[in-house]
Amino acid sequence: MRFSQLYAPTLKEAPADADLISIKLLVRGGFVRKVAAGIYSFLPLGFRVLKKIEDIVRQEMNAIGSQEILMPIIQPAELWHETGRWDDYGPEMMRMQDRHERFFTLGPTHEEIITHLLRNELNSYKQLPVSLYQIAMKYRDEIRPRFGLMRSREFLMKDAYSFHGSWSSLDETYKQFYGAYSKILQRIGLEFLVVEADSGAIGGNESHEFNVLADYGESTLLYCDCGYAASDEKAEYLLQEESQEGAVADLKIVPTPNSRTVDEVSAFLEVTSRDIVKSLIYKGRKGYYMALIRGNEELNESKLKAALEDQTLVMATPQEVLDLLGVPIGFVGPIGLPKEVTIIADHTIKGLKNAVCGALKEGYHYSGVLPGRDFKIDSWHDLKMVTEGDPCPKCGAPMKSAKGIEVGHIFKLGTKYSEKMNGYVTDEKGNSIHYIMGCYGWGVSRTISAIVEQLHDENGIIWPLAVAPFDIIVTAVNIKDPIVSEKSIQLYDILSEAGFEVLLDDREISPGMKFKDADLIGIPVRITLGKKLAQGIVEVKPRTEKKPLEVSIVDGFDTLL
Ligand code: ATP
Ligand code: MG
Ligand code: MG
Ligand code: MG
Repeated sequence: MRFSQLYAPTLKEAPADADLISIKLLVRGGFVRKVAAGIYSFLPLGFRVLKKIEDIVRQEMNAIGSQEILMPIIQPAELWHETGRWDDYGPEMMRMQDRHERFFTLGPTHEEIITHLLRNELNSYKQLPVSLYQIAMKYRDEIRPRFGLMRSREFLMKDAYSFHGSWSSLDETYKQFYGAYSKILQRIGLEFLVVEADSGAIGGNESHEFNVLADYGESTLLYCDCGYAASDEKAEYLLQEESQEGAVADLKIVPTPNSRTVDEVSAFLEVTSRDIVKSLIYKGRKGYYMALIRGNEELNESKLKAALEDQTLVMATPQEVLDLLGVPIGFVGPIGLPKEVTIIADHTIKGLKNAVCGALKEGYHYSGVLPGRDFKIDSWHDLKMVTEGDPCPKCGAPMKSAKGIEVGHIFKLGTKYSEKMNGYVTDEKGNSIHYIMGCYGWGVSRTISAIVEQLHDENGIIWPLAVAPFDIIVTAVNIKDPIVSEKSIQLYDILSEAGFEVLLDDREISPGMKFKDADLIGIPVRITLGKKLAQGIVEVKPRTEKKPLEVSIVDGFDTLL
């Protein structure tokens, strides 16, 4: 490929809304362009990287006998009603209606679809195990789409699902996926940490997350010399279970007749009873925070800031919320229009979510009910963040922490979906049993950001060879010089024939700009044909080195191969 023909508009400056080094470099290098918050187009360079990651993932899936399929992105609501997740999934689910006003979702994940697919076709344990995967777009209306491809609203995921007649068969397949995921990261050449994870909204029994280590990773990982490693959510959950018997399971919701009134709370919030209060619990750098915002608005960082400034927003730590309002965290609002209120409880605060669901299930419907006045939650204060230095749940030694980017997540789902959706097979004895499932996600597009977060320097991206958009860039310093032009084309042909993917920088711009772009877009090796070509010398510079190596080509290009 000639650079003069490549559609790769590079930029000197990153756009103001690029909030992390990886997305800054990806935009500046002409890899991607933002269309809307969390929605991106991939330009040729970005698409090449995406395809390379996809290929590695595909090869490792095929190697463990998983078979590729393609399922629809648009999924009928009926299937999600069967599992209850149409209601449980919350505002992250993108919903739509067709012309007949039937509801659909743009799939955030595919457990329902695949369970449905197989329940009509699978009959006997003899057909099991089965392992299927797809590589397709997923849609999640993330509350805070940010960090470019890392937390986007449309993203490419590899999602695999396995079906078994026995738990031991699931264990075996789960191990294979564990191995394949480690191999994917090793092949790309990234430092990573596998941690025990909380299975969150997907549900299930055992689960591991594969995290690329990076300073600005969104996940906090805790690990210990004894080999134990877990996401902070999981470690927190375990610690609570151990130290406080049943602290999570036993959250009691008790009516409290004499708590604050709607008016008092409204006054504090400076909202009228007609306003809608959205509450958001999120994990800030110093712990859990709660934000309350007036109006039925999308929350994002700049709105949060603005709302804070004009004081329509209250931000407080859990203890402050309790002190100020006499209401436990997460339970201020709804006031006024109950249907439109969204309580978004990060599932990391598991107890709170249980409590919200519990409150709803036990008939505390939100209309006319003021949580805190009408009920409160005991032991919410047991929800403490686990941090560095806290005792390891396995051996008690102080744990260390690291930041990571979750790129892969594997779950043992068990029979959660087959039970809810009537997925049966007959076992050896002829009995009908629910098939046992596993599911395995990989964020293909997020991996791009994770790579750049880990591998960059002040000049740009440093792609590992396995996923680089091109292997070699041949920089013809002055393309108008007939010897440079002839030799660089000759070199380009030789390298291409030898199986390398080569980008020939034949643009009529200054050498400085060429070098800058080459560093920015991060191609692993640069071969420069410049002034010294007259003496039969070219420069070879790996992207990771500061100084080039001079190589003589007097006897031809063989020395370069
Ligand atoms: P997170 O904790 O970051 O929100 P998740 O646990 O919700 O991710 P999963 O449901 O486990 O995500 O999905 C499988 C994989 O899909 C994740 O490990 C991640 O690599 C990728 N992924 C999830 N959400 C996004 C997103 N908003 N943008 C890009 N990739 C994503
Ligand atoms: Mg998520
Ligand atoms: Mg997660
Ligand atoms: Mg996950």
